[in-house]
Amino acid sequence: MRIDLVTIFPGILDGPFRESMIRRAVEKGLIRVNLVDLREFTHDRHRQVDDAPYGGGTGMVLKPEPVFEAVRHLKACSEAEKQLVILTSPAGQTFNQAMAQKLAAEKHLIIICGRYEGVDERVRESLVDREISIGDYVLTGGELPAAVIVDAVARLLPGFLAEEAAQNESFTEGLLEHPHYTRPPVFEGMAVPPVLLSGNHGEIDRWRRRMSLKYTLERRPDLLKGIALTEEERAYLEELSKKGDSGSGNPGR
Ligand code: SAM
Repeated sequence: MRIDLVTIFPGILDGPFRESMIRRAVEKGLIRVNLVDLREFTHDRHRQVDDAPYGGGTGMVLKPEPVFEAVRHLKACSEAEKQLVILTSPAGQTFNQAMAQKLAAEKHLIIICGRYEGVDERVRESLVDREISIGDYVLTGGELPAAVIVDAVARLLPGFLAEEAAQNESFTEGLLEHPHYTRPPVFEGMAVPPVLLSGNHGEIDRWRRRMSLKYTLERRPDLLKGIALTEEERAYLEELSKKGDSGSGNPGR
């Protein structure tokens, strides 16, 4: 997959892709991330990318010409049959795992990082395929949202994670993930649930599934609506709800 990030501050995006798993994904060739400096697509002495808003008011707006030119250039030199152009925007659809999964099936993403008051509306109207927000708050620019999108998408690419790790994650099956423990078996009087030390993988899977249901009921009950549950799981959730059990107890301990 190729991802082009169109920004006036490429330096902000230098770090996230040079460390850890994303760096390895780049090195393995699973993903190619290009930082595209919007100023390269200006033609004036000052390399101006922004201008004052029509109608007055504070702040500046990213001009349409360099954004159109940059995206057209990136499309023209794309090896993919089609490209998906994304605008980061607080007004966009809120990003989630299902969206990340859809984007992971694309071959070439072009992500436009807004700045200042945002981007000239004509960019949104006729250049952009999807507008994505990473949450109901306002950041100074689209670089961090773009990094969030790239991170979430990259880890879904085949070969990035062990297959099993990706399957069990929060939201993948619509539930939150079960909790994790590592050594030592007892820390400051807090013991690891014995089932995890039992070596009985059937019991461990059952415990994990129950914890996943319990966590989801406690923290994100809205997610349970769309989930196919067995009779046993439904009964377990009913039992928890009746007890009003939202403590940190572990099922099957
Ligand atoms: N004036 C805009 C408004 O009120 O909606 C906010 C502009 S914001 C300061 C500058 C840029 O940061 C936006 O154009 C967008 O690219 C990015 N941005 C800020 N918050 C975001 C969010 N929650 N999700 C995605 N992008 C965001």
